[in-house]
Amino acid sequence: MSRVYNFSAGPAVLPEEVLKEAADEMLDYRGTGMSVMEMSHRSKAFEEIITTAEQDLRDLMGIPDNYKVLFLQGGASQQFAMIPMNLMKNRVADYIITGQWAKKAAKEAEKYGKVNRIASSEDKTFSYIPDCSDLPVSEDADYVYICENNTIYGTKFKKLPNTKGKTLVADVSSCFLSEPVDVTKYGVIYGGVQKNIGPAGVVIVIIREDLITEDVLPGTPTMLTYKTHADAKSLYNTPPAYGIYICGKVFKWIKAMGGLDAMKERNEKKAKVLYDFLDQSKLFKGTVVKEDRSLMNVPFVTGNADLDAKFVKEAKEAGLENLKGHRTVGGMRASIYNAMPYEGVVALVDFMKKFEEENL
Ligand SMILES: *Cc1c(COP(=O)(O)O)cnc(C)c1O
Repeated sequence: MSRVYNFSAGPAVLPEEVLKEAADEMLDYRGTGMSVMEMSHRSKAFEEIITTAEQDLRDLMGIPDNYKVLFLQGGASQQFAMIPMNLMKNRVADYIITGQWAKKAAKEAEKYGKVNRIASSEDKTFSYIPDCSDLPVSEDADYVYICENNTIYGTKFKKLPNTKGKTLVADVSSCFLSEPVDVTKYGVIYGGVQKNIGPAGVVIVIIREDLITEDVLPGTPTMLTYKTHADAKSLYNTPPAYGIYICGKVFKWIKAMGGLDAMKERNEKKAKVLYDFLDQSKLFKGTVVKEDRSLMNVPFVTGNADLDAKFVKEAKEAGLENLKGHRTVGGMRASIYNAMPYEGVVALVDFMKKFEEENL
């Protein structure tokens, strides 16, 4: 067996320890005589899996009691609709546009009400985060929406926007559990888990209780109403049970690593190796302004599309996979999520050095 260093943006690398544990428990989960894939979601064994996963997530993020944790399906994209359907009481919301995912979320919300795009970094291909200290937040806005880490462009909000008292809603798909977070600053934090936590098929929504009401937009399906899932503790219908089980193992893994402070330190150390190299390279350059660089997604280019393609091909041959940039931006992108080991980033930088010497 040989594993590559997988720099995919998602689905992405998972901790090897977690995969091995899951493999050991595949045929017989702790004496139940069956796999977690085969067991009832109403069984005692599964109830323990989901309650333990929720508690571990609460411990890691310091989630206060007045927030619910929901394990849902439909990916992050389903939330683009679910958020306005549940939160748009005045049918007005403000969106900060920092990339494709925020753009898509705003477009979807427009089906349900008035969307004000109060800031954008599209003028410079989303290579920075706009100043959000004094935005024209709408007086009747039901919420202000951000995509906190922009997976495609490699930017991250280092400071949350000043929402002037409005509820903040954040898509954290690609920075979930990468560093400590003050949950009380948000009304809703959500993310698809396939970037930094687990297998595709689970989306985690952390939502303040007062935002969970029966007063949703007319026609909102039962399955797309937060209250349905909050009341049923994410067991209204069959949840993505196996995915939740793997997420639970990843939470335990992060706890054992020292929690979110330790994750941040580890992620900063990894990102520094790559950014320091990019800053002095004569061939490669990063595409994002320094202050707004993501710790998770690092896009870079040579400035020559043919050379970029050659790099991606040769890197793959060297066991460094999925370095091709997003199809809408080209170039390269290294996603260096929690589970990417330090050695993986060092191997990438060593390969880049060699490639530079051979191709400059
Ligand atoms: C990947 C991604 C999405 C889309 O996730 P799906 O689960 O495929 O719907 C949304 N937002 C961000 C920030 C992402 O990285």
